Amino acid sequence: MSVAAGQDDLVRLDQVTCAYGGQPALVNVDLGVAPGQFSGVVGPSGSGKTTLLHAITGSVRPVAGVVRRAPGLRLAYVPQVETVNWSFPVTVAECVLMARNTGRLLPWPSRAERAAVTEVLDRLDIGALRTRHIRELSGGQQQRVFIARALLRRPQLLLLDEPTSGVDVRTRHEVLHLLSDLNADGLAIVLTTHDLNGIAAHLPHLVCLNREIVGSGPPREVLRAEVLERTYGVEVEVLEHAGMPIVVDDFNPGNVVPLRRAVP
Ligand code: ADP
Ligand code: MG
Repeated sequence: MSVAAGQDDLVRLDQVTCAYGGQPALVNVDLGVAPGQFSGVVGPSGSGKTTLLHAITGSVRPVAGVVRRAPGLRLAYVPQVETVNWSFPVTVAECVLMARNTGRLLPWPSRAERAAVTEVLDRLDIGALRTRHIRELSGGQQQRVFIARALLRRPQLLLLDEPTSGVDVRTRHEVLHLLSDLNADGLAIVLTTHDLNGIAAHLPHLVCLNREIVGSGPPREVLRAEVLERTYGVEVEVLEHAGMPIVVDDFNPGNVVPLRRAVP
């Protein structure tokens, strides 16, 4: 994803503003997602991260500006695990199978669809869980089921909303490695995250959002105190460890500085 959108982008946002009931959630956003990109969107709660993903999928329409998708673009969206009802009575395999693109009238899956499910479950290392009820999974396993559902559509662009929120450190590593592998195979990925050190610092490209784009580029350029202070509206310190930026935030109320808003 780059702020200056290129010719071959999968998706391009040009001066996009989105609002809910007259309240702007995204303001004048310009960005492009190129084939094979891997970008993280960071910003405080309410900064428009989820809205940005919805603008990319088309489920939220801009009130100004234009979203262009490459013709025939296959994109898949993985919602936040917390927003889903996990008591729905299905197994892992059924849950993944339900995501298939049928276009057929028959309600039961074809042999090819079953084979595709097996392939994607094995790829994500959850083949052994296929008969398990989705309620009985760990947070990381649930995340994999979601990613499996998304991959069944053979997307060119995968969008994930806070894929590692509420999971432990080991699961976070696993999910990050899995996404890196998928990206290495050519899948473009845009994810949102709250986790600056555990996730954002490890991604090739970041966008800092606070309704408008505050900064964009590789972590070394973006994870700087000045950019983060404008993104989060609090004082932060950025240290370096083993060549990686480490963000130390100090969210004590005395440090809160007023946010500079682009729109009154
Ligand atoms: P983030 O994902 O960064 O927390 P969101 O995109 O969810 O931010 O929200 C951005 C702003 O838009 C917030 O102020 C939020 O309250 C508001 N908002 C989000 N979704 C809706 C909605 N469906 N209806 C009304 N306001 C919304
Ligand atoms: Mg959100």
